Amino acid sequence: MSITSERLGRVRERLAQESLDGFLVTNYVNWRYLSGFKGDAGSLLITGTDAIILTDSRYTEQAEKEAPEFSVVKTSTDDDALKKALLEKGVWRLGFEKDYVSYSNWEKLKDRLEGVELKGLSGIVEKLRMVKTPDEIAKIAKAQEIADQAFGLLTGAIRIGATELELATEFEFTMRKMGSEGVAFSLIVVSGERSSLPHGVPTTKALEDGDFVTFDFGATHDGYRSDETRTFVMGHLDARHEEIYNVVLRAQVAAVDKVGPGVPAKEIDLTGRRIIEEAGYGEYFGHGIGHGVGLNVHEGPSASRKSEDMLAPGMIITVEPGRYIPGFGGVRIEDLVLVTEDGNRVLSASPKELTVLDPR
Ligand code: ZN
Ligand code: ZN
Repeated sequence: MSITSERLGRVRERLAQESLDGFLVTNYVNWRYLSGFKGDAGSLLITGTDAIILTDSRYTEQAEKEAPEFSVVKTSTDDDALKKALLEKGVWRLGFEKDYVSYSNWEKLKDRLEGVELKGLSGIVEKLRMVKTPDEIAKIAKAQEIADQAFGLLTGAIRIGATELELATEFEFTMRKMGSEGVAFSLIVVSGERSSLPHGVPTTKALEDGDFVTFDFGATHDGYRSDETRTFVMGHLDARHEEIYNVVLRAQVAAVDKVGPGVPAKEIDLTGRRIIEEAGYGEYFGHGIGHGVGLNVHEGPSASRKSEDMLAPGMIITVEPGRYIPGFGGVRIEDLVLVTEDGNRVLSASPKELTVLDPR
């Protein structure tokens, strides 16, 4: 059985459970996952027996090539292609992805599909995406490898006086030269006091002696992403750097060790958080410890203390505790970790022990 028909089979099981005749997929990452179609305009209609891509003339040829197991219907603005397809296939109860329909599109959908019963569903495809196939794992590992290699090259060029923006630009350029389709997300390079901003944007601030500098980065390979964070000290190391860094490292290593099949994802968070809290810095670690990575850089499962997800072989999550001290700076260490049959495998390869760059 092809991977496409297997995935469609899983969606159809859900349709049967919900007593629906069809499912409309409007999130482009989800339709790529189900069909292989990489365009970013259109939708999928899945019924008990049919699988259809509705897209406009810019994408019909591409859709036919990329999604051979789907039939392709050409749409134009304001036409009734969807309505016609529903009538033709006898769909009177239609599920749709309620998390991705704006209020105005919902109104349009209701108007255009008068007579069809609509039911909003959540997480149908996202749930399937949590467990990766060997092929998906290989793509994520490749993205991670590109990112680690580029980071290795960049590390040699990180100097006091270089700006956050220069380093981010150089980093992105290097990853693209090495085959990354683009960055997995806007690269984060923050230094000094700014390193206490967990998702700060790189600026023209230059790296200074005594700064923490944090790089949060990822590459993309065939649509699949990687995600990793490393923090360095610039110039002079003092005891405070060491104390902050080593607590985060200890929390990170302990949390990674905990990753394995059958482990509740929240346990990963609690393991790392306990160590940071015991060091008296709990209030400075506000985010969850990790998240799934795949076609999106943030996807399921969630590894926060409120998560109800259970880890299973084939899941790929980040483990990224941090301590962010306003007015001083912050440290985050993030690895990408694959859940295996008997434990885990860390995909990130860059060293993570405390490193001083450009020592004076
Ligand atoms: Zn990250
Ligand atoms: Zn992350």
